[in-house]
Amino acid sequence: MDPATIRTRFAPSPTGYLHVGGLRTAVYAYALAKHGRGQFIVRIEDTDQKREVPGAKDKLYDILKTFGLNWDELYVQSERVGSGIYEKAAKKLLDEGHAFYCFCKPLTKDEIKENRKSKIQFRDPCHNLSKEQVEKKLAAGEKPAIRLKVPDGEFISYIDFVLRKKTSWKTDVVDDAMLLKSDGFPTYHLAVVVDDHDMKITHVLRGHDWLPSTPIHLLVYQYLGFEVPQIGHLTDIQDPSGGKLSKRKGNVAVEQFIANGFLPEAILNFVILLGWAPKDNREMFTLSEFVEHFDANGFQKSNPLFNTQKLLWFNGQYLRQKSDRELLELLRPHLKTKADDPLLLQIIPLAKSRIATLAEFEPLTRFFWQRPAPQEQISTTKEYLADALAILSKVGWNKEAIEADLVNSANSKGWNRGGYFMALRLAIAGSRISPPLTESMLILGKEEVISRLKQNLE
Ligand code: GLU
Repeated sequence: MDPATIRTRFAPSPTGYLHVGGLRTAVYAYALAKHGRGQFIVRIEDTDQKREVPGAKDKLYDILKTFGLNWDELYVQSERVGSGIYEKAAKKLLDEGHAFYCFCKPLTKDEIKENRKSKIQFRDPCHNLSKEQVEKKLAAGEKPAIRLKVPDGEFISYIDFVLRKKTSWKTDVVDDAMLLKSDGFPTYHLAVVVDDHDMKITHVLRGHDWLPSTPIHLLVYQYLGFEVPQIGHLTDIQDPSGGKLSKRKGNVAVEQFIANGFLPEAILNFVILLGWAPKDNREMFTLSEFVEHFDANGFQKSNPLFNTQKLLWFNGQYLRQKSDRELLELLRPHLKTKADDPLLLQIIPLAKSRIATLAEFEPLTRFFWQRPAPQEQISTTKEYLADALAILSKVGWNKEAIEADLVNSANSKGWNRGGYFMALRLAIAGSRISPPLTESMLILGKEEVISRLKQNLE
């Protein structure tokens, strides 16, 4: 391998869905590697087996492929435990005095939460156990975990390549982090360092919430004698209602956006600009265009806002780039109706510019195969409808003739044209918003249009 080769990784824990922030990390890591003709690695971080969600790994692979984020190498941490690679690193730290055996009972979830609230104690009770005490416990068959022995009074720092700033910590406020659990499984802190080193990762990109873990990792790198890769923390995506984007406030799962009728191209484009900006004001990016234009200086330092309107706008742009045939295929899973292809292919061009998501197609066009309930009509609209009925019954059934006769009639009677056509739209489509009316009537056919008008007049 060329020593200058850029190698990045996306290291998700298999939680069962891909968070939009996770997708963003993956896209940036991919572009950073590919722009430099390097390698993009996917590593499943599943050493916390209690949190394992069945089927989650395959779902992750599928969704990454949906976005074209094809990896050069794939690793699953739990499958690497048996090789002893993590245990060996933990033992080295132990032997060299940078880790210690911890015999404390693992904390319950509630205790961990409690501890977080009242975080004043960074040193573990076993930090200073004597050799004799340790040996006695081991001889009694106690199964220890291994923790990082963090010194007091030192400083540790790094320069973040995304935030372009130096961050330092006093080791006094760095935890004696757990490295190897008593069951022999590594924690995130140990596995991430061992693997990033073993996989020759040159650039670590991750979400901002991992920043507090970084001093722990820096110490582990130092004590294991590993070179520290470039580390970059991405900004937090902000929810429009304030605070960080979170599951509690609304949808954050990429899979759910797709189920709601967003196109992967649109989600991807939207996410690319959530924390990165090109030198010019260009907005439209496919994945390969992003790779081509990628520049690490484009990472933004301020937190981006998750602007749903913008996502809808991108989706509309990409929907309109699709051919009618392509749209037909994409729409199928979102349709409850069994309408046949020829009918749908007539309707799609009318609806295409009026929908922002695939899911909006069905409610907008349902009236084509489902006659809407008659609308409540007041005397004016009844008068309009009776007039339209008379005209449509005898007009030549083509766009020009229909439009000319209806407009002339409304004009000659001095009626409000907007009101006249709205009454007609409501009677035919059952909604104030519909695809273009004349074209819709042509698809519905004369007979159906006439009977809808009659039904509304009854
Ligand atoms: N497994 C961590 C996650 O789920 C990865 C953090 C990192 O990239 O170092 O986000």
